[in-house]
Amino acid sequence: MKADAFRFDGRTPCDLSKLPTDAGGEKGKKDEYAAKTAANLRRMEALQEALYADGREGLVILLQALDAAGKDGTIKHVMGGLNPQGVTVYNFKQPTRAELQHDYLWRVGQCLPPRGGIAIFNRSYYEDVLVVRMHGLQKTYRMADRVLEDDETFFRKRYRQIRHFEEYLYENSFRVVKIFLHVSKAEQKERFLERIDTPEKNWKFSAADIAERARFDEYNDLYSQVITETASKHAPWYALPADQKWYTRYLVSEVVADALEQCAPAYPRVDAAARAEMQKARRQLLAED
Ligand code: ATP
Ligand code: MG
Repeated sequence: MKADAFRFDGRTPCDLSKLPTDAGGEKGKKDEYAAKTAANLRRMEALQEALYADGREGLVILLQALDAAGKDGTIKHVMGGLNPQGVTVYNFKQPTRAELQHDYLWRVGQCLPPRGGIAIFNRSYYEDVLVVRMHGLQKTYRMADRVLEDDETFFRKRYRQIRHFEEYLYENSFRVVKIFLHVSKAEQKERFLERIDTPEKNWKFSAADIAERARFDEYNDLYSQVITETASKHAPWYALPADQKWYTRYLVSEVVADALEQCAPAYPRVDAAARAEMQKARRQLLAED
């Protein structure tokens, strides 16, 4: 299966309840997919190097998911294949007091990559239309009354702001690729139990995760809406099945490699004068004793 099967670019609405969380017919092919992932990691490495040398486009890859869907493992195993020189990972946690005194994109601006670079967002400004909406956090922010008219309008406006922000980035030579790791409720339960039962994984468990799990379906409905409202041709969403880690990693590697390919990086070509200069340097080097 190609990752494109899970791509949303604004033409069709997204309904997560109708999309797979598992590998389906591919289930028995773990080894085959592991080999494909390895090949994609090599493709990513080569393309990233060209992107860096080229320096004309920057790439933001953001990951969103419910708890225990595998964001951290994906970053470690898939993005770990990239050259750290050109990549930065940012974890978007609960905003600090200072961050809350600003607009929600303020902290994002500081995390954008330079052209030629890649930024990986572990969670992102999408939390501001997800967790914030689920918990009505906007009502606790100090903002003018006119802003907080009603929830529906408030978040409709945020969808528009996000679409415009991503379009703005695209028009300034940055691409945004958005990945949702779609895990099932049953698999999330297994992973939570593993976090509780394995001492080395205890630190990953938080009691708050159980409270969020109670709203699992509500979250998926909200994600469907957010994906539908913010998917676009230049900033697509991918809703990838996340119940089998080996399958997810393959799909993510495919998405990232394809995104890098779309940047069409080319090594900068040097002009005739620079080439002549290099030949002179070459002769000097060879003449050394
Ligand atoms: P894991 O999935 O492994 O539990 P995590 O991404 O949940 O990892 P945590 O440190 O557990 O990492 O959680 C970060 C928390 O910060 C999340 O619950 C997320 O919803 C919250 N958060 C991020 N951005 C915002 C925001 N703008 N407003 C409120 N909460 C936010
Ligand atoms: Mg968490």
